[in-house]
Amino acid sequence: MTKKLNTQVAIIGAGPGGYAAAFRAADLGFKVTLIDKNINLGGVCLNVGCIPSKALLHITKVMDEALDLKKMGVKFSEPNVDLNSVRKWKESVISRLNKGISALAKARNVSVITGIAKFQSNSEIKISSESEEIDLTFDNCIIATGSSPAKVSIFPDDDRIMDSTNALELNDIPKKLLVVGGGYIGLEMGTVYHGLGSKVTVVEFLETLLPGADSDLVNPLQKRLKNQFQAIKLGTKVIDIKTENNFLNVTFESKNKITEEKFDKVLVAVGREPNSINIGLENTSIKVNENGFIKVDSKMRTSIANVYAIGDIIGNPMLAHKATYEGHVAAEVIAELPAKNDAKCIPAVIFTDPEIAWAGLTEAQAKEQNIPYKKGEFPWRASGKAIAHGRTEGLTKTIFNPENKQILGIGIVGQNAGDMISEGCLAIEMGADAEDIGLTIHPHPTLSESIGLSAEAFEGTITDLFIPKKS
Ligand code: NAD
Repeated sequence: MTKKLNTQVAIIGAGPGGYAAAFRAADLGFKVTLIDKNINLGGVCLNVGCIPSKALLHITKVMDEALDLKKMGVKFSEPNVDLNSVRKWKESVISRLNKGISALAKARNVSVITGIAKFQSNSEIKISSESEEIDLTFDNCIIATGSSPAKVSIFPDDDRIMDSTNALELNDIPKKLLVVGGGYIGLEMGTVYHGLGSKVTVVEFLETLLPGADSDLVNPLQKRLKNQFQAIKLGTKVIDIKTENNFLNVTFESKNKITEEKFDKVLVAVGREPNSINIGLENTSIKVNENGFIKVDSKMRTSIANVYAIGDIIGNPMLAHKATYEGHVAAEVIAELPAKNDAKCIPAVIFTDPEIAWAGLTEAQAKEQNIPYKKGEFPWRASGKAIAHGRTEGLTKTIFNPENKQILGIGIVGQNAGDMISEGCLAIEMGADAEDIGLTIHPHPTLSESIGLSAEAFEGTITDLFIPKKS
């Protein structure tokens, strides 16, 4: 028998967008129902994305740093990886956070339903699970169903051809791994597998890794990865994969040159697609664009006034922190608070080693859109902390409006860039100018002082570098 329920706010998807929206709505006094097909809350980010990949990247980074101490006079023997224990550690991290989210839901009296939700109309959802069916009517609904890995149609169906979810399962460490796609996932998971002992090749069909990031930020990472990975093939396409008993035979095409190579496994990381099919949007008047992303306004409203959409389902960048922010906006709009999506920047972080992070305007965007800018740069070869760490390849640059000297963007490559970028985000959000940043006393010796120093370099007040005056 179908159960009939009603809720004030129904939220489909319990990722970092959905659960944040649910908790904010509950805190604002609403009766909230949070629906997810997975009994473990947290979505892709927690279960098969950001968190497990960071747990693994931490392990490989520490292993790498330990080996690096050789040049400072400390030698360790080669690490011995017990894959079962590594996997258990990763799973324990996920499970601890799963439990944390469930406890937060319980504390707020959020009703959590496990099942697959499908719109029946503009005001009703059917939730199906193995044990029951529920017809849920709602006053408001927030769609936060996220995205899934994009597939390459010409690749055969074979367990050895993995997406990011399978790659994070760590079933084994292939001797030779091919990563298709030189973006966020390709480089992060390539780094993990390299650290655990695979020979990694990355193939990217564009001429650069990490399209979207400024090339001066990508270069130090690319240089390091070139030494670690077996090969980085740019401007190259995979045109065929033949599955043989003991290997995958991959055919590459680059500038009309065809080559073949054998690999044990392939990781496909060529972007993500919105989970907008199979949720019954065809039964509603919600509009999606040509790529399947749901259209919303600045209040996160879809084409139906009481239905909102947040996170990956509404488009790029597909990042957890963007979804969380949008989730809070949607909940506050439902509560008739004066909220809207007016974030001045969304930081991007690639958790490789070195890390790359940027926020606001990039130099590439400024050039493309003819936006006038000037920049201040601080190369880490002049940073005491970076020299002490033996890692001087980093760079911090701040991008300013040449007229009023307000910060427009920031880019960092180097150890801990992902943690450091937040200062830049705050500066952009607050409309800080170069003087505000340069005159802020930063602690010494830190990597974060490079942000203040880059603003000083722009101002011409820096003493840690000698920049000859232009005559
Ligand atoms: P991506 O968009 O970052 O990179 C995909 C890359 O694959 C691009 O460089 C693209 O040019 C290339 N490509 C596409 N088709 C190809 C083909 N057939 N052959 C070779 N190269 C091809 O996508 P992703 O790495 O799959 O990650 C998906 C999304 O997940 C990211 O956009 C990001 O939003 C999110 N993510 C974020 C983080 C983080 O915040 N650190 C980490 C992982 C994933």
